Amino acid sequence: MAGFFKSLIQRFTKPDIDWDDLEASLIAGDLGPKLALQIVSDLQAQQRKLHGADIVQVARDHVRKILPESVPHLTPFADGRPKVLLIVGVNGVGKTTSTAKLAHLLQHAGHKVVLAAADTFRAAAVEQLQVWSQRLDAPLVKGPPNSDPAAVCFEGYEMAVKTGASFLLCDTAGRLHTKHNLMEEMKKIHRVLGRKDPTSPHEIILVVDATTGSNALQQAREFHKAIPLTGLIVTKLDGSGKGGVLVPIQQELKVPTRFIGLGEKVEDFQAFDSKRFVDELL
Ligand code: GDP
Repeated sequence: MAGFFKSLIQRFTKPDIDWDDLEASLIAGDLGPKLALQIVSDLQAQQRKLHGADIVQVARDHVRKILPESVPHLTPFADGRPKVLLIVGVNGVGKTTSTAKLAHLLQHAGHKVVLAAADTFRAAAVEQLQVWSQRLDAPLVKGPPNSDPAAVCFEGYEMAVKTGASFLLCDTAGRLHTKHNLMEEMKKIHRVLGRKDPTSPHEIILVVDATTGSNALQQAREFHKAIPLTGLIVTKLDGSGKGGVLVPIQQELKVPTRFIGLGEKVEDFQAFDSKRFVDELL
């Protein structure tokens, strides 16, 4: 993703900038209309000749101001209770793969992880998670097809307690087309898990695909309305998407990006580093 915007906006080197074209370029990079307008207005207000480097600098300053310098790390509870994470997102964004990648990252940090295949509506998703569980040597809890996702999370919790795992990762079905169902399902998961630990689930992390551009913002809006998200995983940053969309998601919804996916392998996953992201994007 290195220098994506830089190359995009450095061509505006002449003093007589085509403002519409610049705004369109910023929007094309998924920064969103609001931020694009703020950047353009800021540049227009400057009483001096502007060059590509100035534009990059102003855009960079704006993005830096929006993104938090650091994001909370995933740390286990000191009292040994399992920390429960719900991983949500629409089909195809890389939800199951990201669940496995996150499990791998946590294992690498020395933590025990249990996986719960709570996307019970897609047999393929359960099978896929099962393959990952074998590869990662992480216990998996699953139910029969179309079984209750809340029950799978509940059993996952019991398994996490039994095996002394610090984290329970629940791969859930994100069926956005029926927001009511999604909300009901989430409420039920909260209610059922609440019998074990009233504060769980502790994190609700939305997975979005960087290659879908501003669709990711729309998905984040809808999920956040149904269930308050605590973080974002942005996948497929190894592809054509540069991840600019995570900026308006942070700006509008205050949902921070926690991790990024950079490929199909389990190792292709990193904690989000905003400084590096800004340097590489701009
Ligand atoms: P789900 O339907 O949201 O659970 O999506 P999957 O986890 O099944 O992923 C869909 C496809 O995207 C699979 O082919 C994954 O290998 C691929 N994928 C997931 N994350 C990444 C990523 O960061 N980069 C690339 N290139 N592919 C990814």
